[in-house]
Amino acid sequence: MKRVRVRAPGKINASFRVGPLRTDGYHFVASTYLAVSLYEEVLATAKPGTPAGDVTVSISPASTLDPAALATIPLDDDNLAVRAARLVADVSESTCGVHLEITKHVPIAGGMGGGSADAAATLVACDALWHTGLSREELSQLGAELGADVPFALLGGAAVGLGVGDRLTAALAPTALHWVLVQSDFGLSTPLVYGALDTLRDGAEPPVPDQVDPHILAALRAGDPALLAGCLANDLQPAAVSLAPGLAEVLDAGKARGALATLISGSGPTVAMLAADERHARNLSAELGAAGYAAQAVQGPVHGAHRVLDS
Ligand code: ATP
Repeated sequence: MKRVRVRAPGKINASFRVGPLRTDGYHFVASTYLAVSLYEEVLATAKPGTPAGDVTVSISPASTLDPAALATIPLDDDNLAVRAARLVADVSESTCGVHLEITKHVPIAGGMGGGSADAAATLVACDALWHTGLSREELSQLGAELGADVPFALLGGAAVGLGVGDRLTAALAPTALHWVLVQSDFGLSTPLVYGALDTLRDGAEPPVPDQVDPHILAALRAGDPALLAGCLANDLQPAAVSLAPGLAEVLDAGKARGALATLISGSGPTVAMLAADERHARNLSAELGAAGYAAQAVQGPVHGAHRVLDS
């Protein structure tokens, strides 16, 4: 086998509670993750005759993001996909290096875990390319070394994330829910957004969140968008809006056009708008598009990182 192609989904957080700062500099969180049908793709190609640690990366011209944004992605050891390949190389008997070609569709620094999806796709691809035979659990443990969102990009579906978001429990969500995502033409740095939240909280210490709102899990189980609309929540939203006040207008634009609810995904700036069904999402997306917003309809939950046939 010379090439392996793997797809991994971006995520939205249907709920995101942020607790106190931990001693390691991260915050305790309780998150309801939902994998959505906006995917990253990684094509891993073996480089015969090169050593196992020889990992290179490029961005595919098929990527749908703005070229200026794509140009900000590090192509060295800071790239999460490169780091993921090295972690697999360290535990495999592989005898050659790998080139990773990433096709980006998930907005960069958009709060949708795009880099984490690249890492998850790379873990699965390199494991297959080098016949390492790691279990999903082992891949997830490697992924957690790279970032809190990587284990979820492997798992997919819907899940509750505790700890820093990496302690996952799958949630039952048998019915597809329909969303409109509105992207911004700028990114928000996750550490900056957490910093803004700490400033807004002004020293107040919230308790460690040890569960998500049970109503949200009931709404996912029932596949009931109206029920879910009442429980969407993101503690990071005021912080993201304080850094990018224009987001308030995007949130309102969705509501004014009939979205059941709107919220910022993770640290933003992507705004997720909940629709009643597929047709509603399509119409809402078209209306927002006509008004000049970068809107697209997606659905979720979808599967986590998985191999696709190489074209
Ligand atoms: P999260 O919410 O998980 O922090 P995000 O979706 O807001 O993530 P990403 O697009 O995953 O943001 O990446 C944030 C930063 O990580 C980028 O600004 C970039 O410098 C760096 N990065 C490293 N590897 C990648 C990658 N493969 N794709 C995109 N960005 C990457």
